[in-house]
Amino acid sequence: MNVQPLLENGQFLAMSRQQPELFSHPIIFTLKDETQVTITSPGVIQFIPNNEYQRSIVLSCGVHGNETAPIEICDDLVQDILCGRLSLRQPLLVLFANLPAMDIAERFVEENMNRLFSGAHSQETQGIKSNIERLRAAELEQSVVDFYQAVNSSEKWHLDLHTAIRESKNEKFAVYPFLHGQPWSQQALSLLLACGINTILLSNAPTTTFSYFSSHQCGANAFTVELGKVKPFGGNDMYDFQQLIDTLRTWLCQPVIELKDFNEDDFEIFKIHQIINRQQTDFKLNFADDTPNFSDFPVGYVLAEESSTQYIVTEKGESIVFPNAKVALGQRALLTVVPTKIDENII
Ligand SMILES: [Zn+2]
Repeated sequence: MNVQPLLENGQFLAMSRQQPELFSHPIIFTLKDETQVTITSPGVIQFIPNNEYQRSIVLSCGVHGNETAPIEICDDLVQDILCGRLSLRQPLLVLFANLPAMDIAERFVEENMNRLFSGAHSQETQGIKSNIERLRAAELEQSVVDFYQAVNSSEKWHLDLHTAIRESKNEKFAVYPFLHGQPWSQQALSLLLACGINTILLSNAPTTTFSYFSSHQCGANAFTVELGKVKPFGGNDMYDFQQLIDTLRTWLCQPVIELKDFNEDDFEIFKIHQIINRQQTDFKLNFADDTPNFSDFPVGYVLAEESSTQYIVTEKGESIVFPNAKVALGQRALLTVVPTKIDENII
């Protein structure tokens, strides 16, 4: 393939969406600053700079195809690198995850991709064995593993960037995957704070999300990062994300990044209290559709109900996150969280 147009316009995402056949075979080339670029498939692009580096960084976006802000942030970043406007010091893998879902401006085509990692893509559920999301989840897992192996740096990172379906009282927040009792990282939380994210949701169990995969299988500092509310392509005010964009660029292009010392008072930390799955077709949520994430309800309030079951607030300060009554049967329709402290389990 002639890579010249890619170096001139940097339109890797647009070419991946409009002419995926261009990237049906791996392509390797070198930028002016000697960064090696490897494209392994449409939407999968890796950069390894020709210098000593400290950390390998994975940025993924578009796991949900209609979550446009992270896709635009990563698209700008890739364009700037390809066109020579930005010179990396740290290896970077960028994953534009669900290209067909972007094309139809939907969250997914067949199935929620962020429930298909850690091997879930290969487990038959409700008669589904294979679809484009499952094939892609397997491919993305492999590209993360291959990238960390190729770079072989001691620090591994993965930020899986999303936007939420609804408004949030805490506009930006990160989900910290379950660490199986390992300590949380002060450095990682300080980096998130520098990105403008001070709300952290501690996960309490293994999941099939992309960030849990990188955390658990690859030992990465990995997070699901929620950046605000879903808007159509071009409808995002990039000013809302400037702190994140600036911090990411410094983190990628400098040997060290100055971070504020960790202080728990800078954060709002929550832990998961209830996971409410939709079991019946008559499942309904007892609050308005536009209720923001992190809204709290009084003890005893019936948050949701379905035949024979009511889901009730049991703790003071219990707040809702990710409500979605329309999920498939058996899937998570609502999380509740309660404020918590990180205590001493942090390094
Ligand atoms: Zn999402």
